[in-house]
Amino acid sequence: MRLLIMGTPGAGKGTQAKLLATQFNACHISTGDMLREAVRSGSPLGREARRAMDEGRLVPDDVVVGLVEERLDSPDCAQGFLLDGFPRTVAQARALDALLARRKEPLDGVVLIALPPERAVERLSGRRVCEGCGTMFHLRFDPPADPNQCTRCGGPLLQRDDDREETIRHRMDVYARETAPVLEHYRAVGLLREIDGAGEREDVYRRIVAGVQ
Ligand code: AMP
Repeated sequence: MRLLIMGTPGAGKGTQAKLLATQFNACHISTGDMLREAVRSGSPLGREARRAMDEGRLVPDDVVVGLVEERLDSPDCAQGFLLDGFPRTVAQARALDALLARRKEPLDGVVLIALPPERAVERLSGRRVCEGCGTMFHLRFDPPADPNQCTRCGGPLLQRDDDREETIRHRMDVYARETAPVLEHYRAVGLLREIDGAGEREDVYRRIVAGVQ
């Protein structure tokens, strides 16, 4: 299965992409996760990406396209991939089209998880991530036993720097300006499937699976 998972920040892309990747034995490629890992490791790429990420701006197209290109060669991507958070600009979408054409790996579909912006903001502002194992919680919808400690591994729970209110607003603006046109790019070739992103994660997951098969 080769799918793109799209939607505003907070729509649930990461959650759904992980579930789908496990179910369909495909790899989960999150450019946001890859960039955060580069920032943590302090690599030159991480240092370059950090400022843009903290401010909710996009990292340059050539940087993320390079990351995705390299990742697609990993053995765990041999049965397919779930791309999450990429492409985010029309230039990235065109680069991906060319890359997949070269690899003879056409997309099966592009899933748009649709959620009203105010609901997405509510999800983002309560989101907490375990620094140890990466498990995600939500202070209201999926609360940990202790708001500062991971229920799974005991690691510290943190709020992502870019999940603070002012940065969230900026990320939403960037989405409307840069990423919404990517949807039209895929709608025009008949690949786009719009899925209602409201409700429990299992319900959204079932809608996606029904929508892409
Ligand atoms: P995410 O975890 O997908 O919300 O991404 C977090 C941040 O990483 C974004 O706000 C951007 O700064 C950066 N980022 C992730 N994916 C991309 C991409 N495809 N193009 C440019 N910047 C990206």
